[in-house]
Amino acid sequence: MPGSQPRHTMAPGLDFVDLPSLSAAVHNCRRCPLGHSRTRAVPGVGPPTARIMIVGEAPGQNEDQQGEPFVGAAGKLLDQLLGGIGLSRADVFITNILKCRPPGNRDPQPIEVEACSPYLEQQQRLIKPEVVLLLGRHALARLLPGYESISRVHGKVIVKDSVTYIPIYHPAAALYNSFLMGPLGQDFSAVKAYLDRVEERRRLVAATAAPVLKPEEQLTLFG
Ligand code: URA
Repeated sequence: MPGSQPRHTMAPGLDFVDLPSLSAAVHNCRRCPLGHSRTRAVPGVGPPTARIMIVGEAPGQNEDQQGEPFVGAAGKLLDQLLGGIGLSRADVFITNILKCRPPGNRDPQPIEVEACSPYLEQQQRLIKPEVVLLLGRHALARLLPGYESISRVHGKVIVKDSVTYIPIYHPAAALYNSFLMGPLGQDFSAVKAYLDRVEERRRLVAATAAPVLKPEEQLTLFG
């Protein structure tokens, strides 16, 4: 059954009141060996009220040096794709499964993902985004465990534990395999279609809601 992996309870001392205190903890974190090999930790950036949260894999070399997620070639492509659906970085909170760079950009190890996951869980709890975009197979495996591979679920809207997710191809994968560029563009169209549907539903609810009358208007109604 997809999504049946138990979520662990919050590690002691990792229950944050806001994003700045979470970021400060990430900068001091030594919960796994990556805390000793990184140049800079990369907690994530974006408005605390973002409607959209983007979850990538892990910082690369550029991110490790600058302390910001997606500042290299994959980040430029991400910016273009966001721009193509009318969004910019100011509209999204961007983070990763791992907050520190794995040496040589190797895949995240399970022990690192486990050690880092309380930060991501807390970011989701504090931001409460309307939709979480999962970039690539590592983000998919962490947040939607048991689901099919990224090649099967990309572009689909999946609701789990009242959170809406849309897995999409990772921009770095499309830079490496150019045949993924088309599907990645379609994934962003699927994101836009979802956001448009949410907006339309919101407009309908607002339009059909009973008008709130001022006290003097209520009096005229009843005599
Ligand atoms: N790839 C990621 O998954 N995250 C980054 O921050 C940069 C590249």
